[in-house]
Amino acid sequence: MRLILIMERTVGTVRRRAWLMAAVTVAAVSVVPAAVAQAATQRQDVVASFYPLAYAAERVGGNRVDVANLTPAGAEPHDLELTPKQIDQLLDADLVLDLGRNFQPAVEKASEQRDGPTVKLLDVLPVKTGGKTVDEDDPEALDPHVWLDPVLMGDIVTHVQRALARADPPGRATYRRNADAFRAELAALDTRFSEGLADCDRKLIVTAHESFGHLARRYGLQQEGVAGLSPDAEPDPKRLADLADLVERNGVTVVFTEELVSPRIADTLAREAGVRTDVLDPLEGLSASKQQRGATYTSVMSTNLAKLRDALGCR
Ligand SMILES: [Zn+2]
Repeated sequence: MRLILIMERTVGTVRRRAWLMAAVTVAAVSVVPAAVAQAATQRQDVVASFYPLAYAAERVGGNRVDVANLTPAGAEPHDLELTPKQIDQLLDADLVLDLGRNFQPAVEKASEQRDGPTVKLLDVLPVKTGGKTVDEDDPEALDPHVWLDPVLMGDIVTHVQRALARADPPGRATYRRNADAFRAELAALDTRFSEGLADCDRKLIVTAHESFGHLARRYGLQQEGVAGLSPDAEPDPKRLADLADLVERNGVTVVFTEELVSPRIADTLAREAGVRTDVLDPLEGLSASKQQRGATYTSVMSTNLAKLRDALGCR
């Protein structure tokens, strides 16, 4: 694997050199002053491993960065595999953002070969990791879904701001201004969640996979996932029967499904328990249709709040 990575890197370097030589040739005949041309091309290349981190980088970086998201639109990020081109992109980036702790092992493995900075957010956020990693076979494993807590998302923004300021000191003031604006938006979202979920008939949410644990803890809810911490960890029949029981005992009215994960099992559970389903979006990736409609982290979270309030009978 290491050898393949190195070979890929070499191919990338050769390609880059060829491109650079072409650029030099163009510059030689161009009338654009060199300093201007250079300033225009000094955007920071940021590679983020999935949507919430890419969005944070876009918001904080503004027009000083080019952000690439390794997880394609409409795919979910657990167990992401990388193409050779993506590995090349990751190796060449000025800054890489991922969660670390085994959330996306392929990204972490490739990042190890980098010379430049990589921010592994689970290592720096105020989350008790207890030395654990993300492991779909272990029900006690680390919950990676930190971005669904608007307060922790604010902390992610702060770390992205610091990393960008380190990589590109002249942009420091821009990054601070952009980060302040996004943090204010997240603080307002946090207030709306706190107030919106304060007075409800029920506290239990049943989700497609256990992605809302950090959000549930922040706002005093309880979560049961039809699948485990990863959408691939499918429940056995006994677990489904127990869940149907739990749904009935707690007067749960909605079983939540996700756009990027098959609703088959959640549908079965809802049918068995005689309740309806609705889509709650864990923001692991934005579907192409949502992107086209201009949806963002904040707008999807607002929709999530409305659906939670409806399902829990909040006033
Ligand atoms: Zn997940």
